[in-house]
Amino acid sequence: MKKKILKKGLIMLIVCILSIGSAFSAYAACAHTFNGSYETTKEPTCTATGTKVGKCTKCGVVVTTVTIPALGHSYGEWIKYTTGGVTYSIHVCTRCGHSEYK
Ligand SMILES: [Zn+2]
Ligand SMILES: [Zn+2]
Repeated sequence: MKKKILKKGLIMLIVCILSIGSAFSAYAACAHTFNGSYETTKEPTCTATGTKVGKCTKCGVVVTTVTIPALGHSYGEWIKYTTGGVTYSIHVCTRCGHSEYK
């Protein structure tokens, strides 16, 4: 009678250890699946880089951080204008308003 109880207890203990072990390994062994959709954490501007992160679809851990290159100015057409008898050409960035002369 006593032996049987011991055996039952031992089996329960093993089951307990196994379940804890498998739960732990399931977390630790997350292979991190990434579906390719990034989340922008910092928007890039004309002159500054931004950042985007890719998160594991299973556990939410950030698996990849990518620097988004600066966009560069998006200048419009060159426009000629004359001031003080000198003719300049100017174009203006449509995004940030930065202007460039020549
Ligand atoms: Zn994961
Ligand atoms: Zn710009």
